[in-house]
Amino acid sequence: KTTKELKDLKVLLVEDNLINQKITLLTLKPLVYSIETASNGKEALDKFGTANYDLILMDIQMPVMSGLTAAEKIRALESTTNSHIPIIAITANAMIGDKEKCLSAGIDDYISKPFQPAALIEKIKKNI
Ligand code: MN
Repeated sequence: KTTKELKDLKVLLVEDNLINQKITLLTLKPLVYSIETASNGKEALDKFGTANYDLILMDIQMPVMSGLTAAEKIRALESTTNSHIPIIAITANAMIGDKEKCLSAGIDDYISKPFQPAALIEKIKKNI
């Protein structure tokens, strides 16, 4: 694992709620190299296939395809290339069992909504 710096990161933010999307964008845009968005798991999967991201922030509850399913599919794709992109889940609540579901879908870490910007940045630093 190579440790990257925040300012060099190409981030994919996957979030169906436009307000949440905007808040996270405003927080991260000044700090990272680039940040793109997807509105559901299917879109995330399509973008993952066409660009080289360093990190994915993944909402769990989304229409079309959930974050858990998208993470599983990304891990399946990666298994053929022996690569591993850090995926941090953004969970709507701190429900018991969420952590287990995230981990078994191949998600590396998670943060519960609502979160402080500093907490998100710390999570990202820990996982890159
Ligand atoms: Mn959602």
